[in-house]
Amino acid sequence: MAILERRELGNTGLKVSCLGFGASPLGNVFGHVSHADALAAVRLALQLGINFFDTSPYYGGTVSETVLGNCLHELNVPREDIVVSTKCGRYMDGFDFSAERVTRSIDESLARLKLDYVDILHCHDIEFGSLDQIVNETIPALQKIKAAGKARFIGITGLPLGIFTYVLDRAPPGSVDVILSYCHYSINDSALLDLLPYLKSKGVGVISASPLAMGLLTDNGPPEWHPASSELKSACRATVAHCKKKGKNISKIALQYSLMNKEISTVLVGMNSPKQVEENVAAALELSSLGIDEDLLHEVEAILEPVKTQTWPSGIQQG
Ligand code: NAD
Repeated sequence: MAILERRELGNTGLKVSCLGFGASPLGNVFGHVSHADALAAVRLALQLGINFFDTSPYYGGTVSETVLGNCLHELNVPREDIVVSTKCGRYMDGFDFSAERVTRSIDESLARLKLDYVDILHCHDIEFGSLDQIVNETIPALQKIKAAGKARFIGITGLPLGIFTYVLDRAPPGSVDVILSYCHYSINDSALLDLLPYLKSKGVGVISASPLAMGLLTDNGPPEWHPASSELKSACRATVAHCKKKGKNISKIALQYSLMNKEISTVLVGMNSPKQVEENVAAALELSSLGIDEDLLHEVEAILEPVKTQTWPSGIQQG
């Protein structure tokens, strides 16, 4: 049986499956997910070689962490077999990147996840805080959490790519182990590509999330809260229709596109059912054996050309 590829995550020594399990859907953010579906999805993911699970206290107002923790506990997964990341600083009631809040946050997360430590603790969506606070207060607090053994590695996440260079140029070398970028490495937007040499030079591991552009590149389309412009939504709808007409699946080619770049250690896809897990793992395996459908990719790229790298504002004005 073909095996899902594992890739080194920066200098962490962690080996993560190239396809990671994004657990935000387990917080019901893309629609309700039953416990049975969540459990079956996590079980199948593990069986098919996915070892990386990402969550946050923000997803579903702590529901995602609780559901993921319950699933991993019920399945009695050996701790050393999985890589679990969660986040701090973003909550249902707003942002708080203070040392006091993030220090309390990790204990709350560990209790919900039923774990003694997480492998990665990220500052979540740092463009909504002061980046200087992230450098001078939050990252030092996370170093203490790391020293206490509650997190093995530290990361930062967010949408605008400039936040990563701002922080990495100012934080002490080695204090940030990984970055998590989202919606910047899919067929409609591959802006992350330009940043990869810089991230490599800093020895920082790269996690890319949302290859399906948070639902834009799926048959079901995006959730109501999706921030894309109507122009981008409509171009993505056109790709869905094009693929359907040809008897192809937009999500499959979109995921395969994101998986092709090996400088990106792992691609996080939000999954809420065993069917999605099965389809996504099959897409990854097919990519390794057969490569991507180049003709279809070029057709989809041509449809998306007018909106290529179009993104949306996120966060507060820094300065
Ligand atoms: P995504 O692009 O992975 O899309 C998820 C949507 O696609 C969900 O509705 C899911 O049910 C659906 N889907 C998955 N597989 C499918 C398939 N085969 N066919 C049809 N539909 C399918 O977006 P996402 O969930 O936002 O991102 C993935 C994960 O990355 C998140 O769960 C989260 O863990 C992480 N993430 C982090 C940040 C951050 O830190 N700021 C931001 C975005 C995402």
